[in-house]
Amino acid sequence: MTDSPTETAKPGFLSDVTVELVKHSAADSDVLWAARVSTAGEQSLEELTKDPERSKGLINYLMRDRHGSPFEHNSMTFFISAPIFVFREFMRHRVGWSYNEESGRYRELQPVFYVPGEDRKLVQEGRPGKYVFVDGTPEQHELTSRVMEDSYRQAYEAYQEMLAAGVAREVARAVLPVGLFSSMYATCNARSLMHFLGLRTQHEQAVVPSFPQREIEMVGEKMEAEWAKLMPLTHAAFNKNGRVAP
Ligand SMILES: Cc1cc2nc3c(=O)[nH]c(=O)nc-3n(C[C@H](O)[C@H](O)[C@H](O)COP(=O)(O)OP(=O)(O)OC[C@H]3O[C@@H](n4cnc5c(N)ncnc54)[C@H](O)[C@@H]3O)c2cc1C
Repeated sequence: MTDSPTETAKPGFLSDVTVELVKHSAADSDVLWAARVSTAGEQSLEELTKDPERSKGLINYLMRDRHGSPFEHNSMTFFISAPIFVFREFMRHRVGWSYNEESGRYRELQPVFYVPGEDRKLVQEGRPGKYVFVDGTPEQHELTSRVMEDSYRQAYEAYQEMLAAGVAREVARAVLPVGLFSSMYATCNARSLMHFLGLRTQHEQAVVPSFPQREIEMVGEKMEAEWAKLMPLTHAAFNKNGRVAP
């Protein structure tokens, strides 16, 4: 699991994050099966699909009354590539999540850095707790991209210089900024994902508004799109009940 320093790689700059669903065992029927075992004992999954309206009603009832445990009998593993500052926020979510992140000790970190895209609102207005983000001017965008890229290049050159001189990766990485991309596998279930989405996305149907940083929200939106395909009834019930995790 060790790489030796190679010729200096050219820094790359990205404005988007990557989310891939790499493995899953997750369906609305998992929720129904878990809920019904408490009242009717174990039943076949075929039974559960016989009456779609009843199934939809049951999932909505569980969501509304916050019977949360039936939403835990499923699993989704995502590959995520995003800046380190996103992962710092992400890994605060402790319950119902498993993480494995690439190592800066065992391999040379690649020079891929985050630069906000043109649609990223750059300016914060208002007081803490009650503020909005508004578009930046073209000059602010130009400045942000230029200063970030210069700073990233300089930091990565310092990293490379130390590696070339034989300094250990785990020491040299201290100069790299939180805008560096990292990658991880994150495994969750629908209940822990809903809790994450309630906090890390903004949505018109949310009864409890949240104010996440846009970059973690971008990750959340991509995860939600994958999850909604796997568990459409659960996803619809989550929205209908104000996007509060059961
Ligand atoms: C918009 C926003 C701004 C934030 N700003 C900051 C900030 O400035 N500084 C900062 O440090 N963090 C900040 N956070 C992180 C936040 O405080 C939480 O750590 C993060 O959102 C994870 O939420 P959680 O603890 O509910 O999730 P999880 O860790 O997944 O926990 C899920 C649930 O399990 C229960 N639980 C878990 N652990 C315990 C425990 N030890 N005791 C009792 N119950 C527990 C709680 O009910 C909790 O909601 C921010 C989060 C958001 C969304």
